[in-house]
Amino acid sequence: MDAKELKKAAVLGAGTMGNGIAQVCAQAGMEVVLFDIADEPLARGLANIDRMLAKGVERGKMNHVDAEAVRARVSGSTLLPEAVTDCDLVIEAVPERLELKQVVFRKVEAAAPERAILASNTSSLSINKIADALDFPQRFLGLHFFNPVPIMKLLEIVVGEKTSDEVLSCARGLSDRLSKDGIVVKDAPGFASSRLGLAIGLEAMRMVEEGVASAADIDTAMVRGYGFPMGPLKLTDLVGLDVRLGISEYLASTLGPRFDPPKLLREMVATGKLGKKSGRGFYDWSE
Ligand code: NAD
Repeated sequence: MDAKELKKAAVLGAGTMGNGIAQVCAQAGMEVVLFDIADEPLARGLANIDRMLAKGVERGKMNHVDAEAVRARVSGSTLLPEAVTDCDLVIEAVPERLELKQVVFRKVEAAAPERAILASNTSSLSINKIADALDFPQRFLGLHFFNPVPIMKLLEIVVGEKTSDEVLSCARGLSDRLSKDGIVVKDAPGFASSRLGLAIGLEAMRMVEEGVASAADIDTAMVRGYGFPMGPLKLTDLVGLDVRLGISEYLASTLGPRFDPPKLLREMVATGKLGKKSGRGFYDWSE
């Protein structure tokens, strides 16, 4: 299927990522059904789309009429079969648990048309493992968006062992249609972005641990010297030290000890220094 022929999409999970993915699909002209398991998270997701579109209008990125047309293309549902019926594309953004994603995709396969391309927005799980639950894994792949989805330009297209060339080609076209810069990555732990991003983050933490320089100076080195939009330690504070610890442990177990978490990271997590969300990480966020 050509990406231009994708007319209707279902996005599963209306949280941080799901509502952003629904928005960019609607901006690209697709009819979108945003699905969540309950009214409350669904309403929150739809309200976030309203907010993001209003911001877009405020900043002159789109006009009021276009924003309304985009919003009109998004509907909400709490019934999975209804949400995926007649869809050309299903993008899953439910919580990061393998079993949950497998259960969701089994339900999707029972209700979605055979032509539908199925994608997961997982940030760390194996695409091949999720695909084990599917009857037609050739139509499945990873579409790893970045937060906030309407703003971040990268789309990691993660190709599973059984993903067909046709589905990959459609995903590349979809990336263009969504105005993203798509990169193609083989299903491997941490894909490309998390693996590289974490490698830099862990080395920066080791440098703080060894007293090479302060967190702020290490960040400034990367921002002013290498043009990073944000230093690796501030980014760690925003992502959450606990989240980065989890990814580090996972990559160490799959790729080897070079991804072992530094002692400092373990200590900070153990003492509740989780970054912005706890008020303290490599920086003080308490104000
Ligand atoms: P979130 O917790 O913000 O949202 C998850 C949503 O899924 C919630 O609204 C929840 O009610 C809903 N949900 C739970 N069970 C469901 C089910 N069975 N069917 C449908 N919806 C269900 O999570 P998120 O941050 O949006 O993450 C979703 C996925 O995206 C995860 O796989 C995560 O790893 C990935 N991801 C997250 C980020 C990020 O920065 N947050 C970035 C890239 C990828």
